[in-house]
Amino acid sequence: MTSLQYNRQLPNTLALPCAADTLCVSGIEQARDAVRLARALGRSLLPLGEGSNVVLPGALQGIALYVTDKSVHEVGRDNEFVTLRVGAGHAWHAFVCTTVAEGYVGLENLALIPGTVGAAPIQNIGAYGREVAAFIDAVHGVDLHSGDSRSLNAAQCEFSYRHSVFKGALRDRFLICAVDFRLSKHAALDTHYPALATQLDGQAPLSAQQVLDAVVALRRQRLPDPELEPNVGSFFKNPVVDATWLRNVDGGTRMPQYPQPDGRIKLSAAWLIDHCGLKGLREGGACIASRHALVITNRGGATQRDVLTLAERVVHAVQQRYGLTLEMEPRVYGDA
Ligand code: FAD
Ligand code: NAP
Repeated sequence: MTSLQYNRQLPNTLALPCAADTLCVSGIEQARDAVRLARALGRSLLPLGEGSNVVLPGALQGIALYVTDKSVHEVGRDNEFVTLRVGAGHAWHAFVCTTVAEGYVGLENLALIPGTVGAAPIQNIGAYGREVAAFIDAVHGVDLHSGDSRSLNAAQCEFSYRHSVFKGALRDRFLICAVDFRLSKHAALDTHYPALATQLDGQAPLSAQQVLDAVVALRRQRLPDPELEPNVGSFFKNPVVDATWLRNVDGGTRMPQYPQPDGRIKLSAAWLIDHCGLKGLREGGACIASRHALVITNRGGATQRDVLTLAERVVHAVQQRYGLTLEMEPRVYGDA
């Protein structure tokens, strides 16, 4: 374990200034040491990765805790599947590229999502019709209250749409140190997502590498690059409504609608925000991206308060026009 580093600026893709004391651990044993140290100091530990799904305050009270392990080990194999154990500190996109280059199918739709492997289970990252939950066999880590190591199987992770037990009962309570992925070379590709199908038009036979390349090209066209326009991706979750709601709301029948297995209908939060005329709306240094209505960018000098005030204005406008309350996707820390 590294020694406690005081008052460090935390990396985050919204480029918000945030100072905190930090600790880095390589894996489970060092994480248990970190729990003992934090307990002795009377401080809390806050797990973080690359900061691509967080809205940070100027100063964080707890100790920011990072896992540095980037290892990849094969821990199981049968006729069909291989199981890979990946350190939480491994970069997500690099891991996806490695699996596809080695001939495994499954993670290609999730290419170019920023962040670490350890954060992928937290909100069950998803894109272009796939969610990571479908490929996770187990999650290994440490309970930050008791200091005990623990492994959860996929059912215990309680994955659902952009959600898991790590955002629920185990929020701030469990440090993920490694994730087991179960992958096959013979799984089917999934290119039903309309934008992806259009991007791939004319390419046959398809390989996972072709799907990955198409996803990367699509994302580069459509999404603001955090290196150039700091952001945390989608700022709001897509709302899910009953069919009766759609029939009753003004303009409901014209909205893009995605039926869910439970009979309800998912709407596009980006479409709702766009149709409230909010693209380009600014609050201090924070701005609704003109390229994508679901993305809040830091145009320079934004504070957490700017970002949250802008988000509140968006929630209010959508509430006024459609009677729907948008829910934020990134995790907000501390007081603005
Ligand atoms: P952080 O932002 O640092 O942390 C996020 C949460 O995970 C925090 O609550 C933190 O406590 C927790 N956490 C992080 N590491 C650990 C750990 N080791 N143990 C326990 N808890 C931990 N998300 C999608 O689902 N789909 C997308 O397509 C997508 N596209 C994006 C595009 C852009 C341009 C950006 C900026 C973001 C996008 N995101 C997307 C959101 C984000 O990339 C993911 O949620 C990612 O998994 C966050 O990883 P991170 O390492 O940056 O985590
Ligand atoms: P898009 O293709 O413009 O579609 C807008 C929204 O409609 C998406 O959010 C998507 O929901 C939904 N959608 C479209 N077609 C769908 C279908 N056939 N079935 C179900 N839902 C459908 O989306 P985009 O903004 O360019 O993003 C492309 C993909 O990358 C999406 O899957 C999106 O979730 C993901 N992404 C996520 C983040 C993030 O931070 N969470 C950031 C960038 C991109 P879903 O979001 O449920 O897929």
